[in-house]
Amino acid sequence: LIRQIRHGLRTEAELRNAHAALQKLAMQDGLTGLANRRQLDAALPDEIGRARRNARPLGVIMLDIDHFKRFNDLYGHPAGDECIKAVGQAVLSCVGRSGDLVVRYGGEEILVLLPESDEAGAWQVAEKVLLAVRALAIAHAGSDLGIVTISAGVHVWRNSDPDVRAQSLMEAAGQALYRAKSSGRNRVYPLQPLVV
Ligand code: GH3
Ligand code: MG
Ligand code: MG
Repeated sequence: LIRQIRHGLRTEAELRNAHAALQKLAMQDGLTGLANRRQLDAALPDEIGRARRNARPLGVIMLDIDHFKRFNDLYGHPAGDECIKAVGQAVLSCVGRSGDLVVRYGGEEILVLLPESDEAGAWQVAEKVLLAVRALAIAHAGSDLGIVTISAGVHVWRNSDPDVRAQSLMEAAGQALYRAKSSGRNRVYPLQPLVV
């Protein structure tokens, strides 16, 4: 009987481990190993709620690889995939605080969630990420610098902002990214951290 109970316990523990592993996989992007949209959707309402309760800022960086269609055309889709992976790792290397979340948001779009980060802090991370990607020095004949670059938009939610919808937060970061692109790419928008 004891042996049987032991066996049952072991099976239960194994099942629990398998379940946890599956859950983790379901929250990860298959190509890059970064968090996926599902994980972002799960985390964002909590982070917004926490920021609101504690009256703390919540920083968001939306970034996107520059002229990536050309990259695929020049070097092929598999090379494009490798490039996305390398950029993902470069982004990860720039964030370290617990609670920071790096998400593969779209094809070659990555979102960084930075709880507790104000304008200056989020901007600094974004600049660091731009440098880290340039330092990879991945050849890109279709880009201005001859290497892969990215553009980034920074948005910080603050307690004074009554709009707490996750959607609005993403849209604001997307708007900032759009401005970084349209003003020349390979840059962070805003150009300087806003003084609050
Ligand atoms: P921009 O500088 O304005 O961002 O120009 P872009 O060419 O990068 O434009 P956009 O961001 O709209 O293009 C995204 C392209 O990325 C489209 C698609 O060919 C490519 N792409 C999206 N997802 C993947 C992927 O998983 N792997 C590869 N290799 N390419 C992808
Ligand atoms: Mg792009
Ligand atoms: Mg894109």
